[in-house]
Amino acid sequence: MKATKGSVVTVQYTLTDTKSGEVLESSVGDEPLQYLHGFDEIAEGLENVLEGAEKGFKTKVSLKAADAYGEREDDAVIEVPRTDLPEDVEEGEEIWSDDEDGEPQGFTVVKLGADTATLDGNHPYAGKDVTFDVEVLDVRAATEEELDHGHVHDGSEDE
Ligand code: ZN
Repeated sequence: MKATKGSVVTVQYTLTDTKSGEVLESSVGDEPLQYLHGFDEIAEGLENVLEGAEKGFKTKVSLKAADAYGEREDDAVIEVPRTDLPEDVEEGEEIWSDDEDGEPQGFTVVKLGADTATLDGNHPYAGKDVTFDVEVLDVRAATEEELDHGHVHDGSEDE
């Protein structure tokens, strides 16, 4: 079957920084990625390329930052009271907090001061042009429950 909205797609992928060639992430040698197609789970530009793809489809796609993880935004870097963060947090760590609309958002802890902490709400790959090497290993229809939850149930984690 072809990947379309409501398909669970299993892919093997390697993500590199297009400019430097640095490998940012790879599922090769690890668990392949399963995602629910059409639910904003993966970079938009990659999802567009996988629309209609079937098992065995392989491609390499280079995406501009805006189509991948977004441009870096300076105002996404914020200062918060040190006491807002867990005691044992460390610089470089990623934490989750609610943004001003109450949606969970990931932040990287950039700097810990005595009284304040600097957090960066940009995605770690924001501002990077990236290249995905991707192979579709499987496409199946999502269950009602998966569609309802908006994510894949693979027998692990919180479902
Ligand atoms: Zn669920």
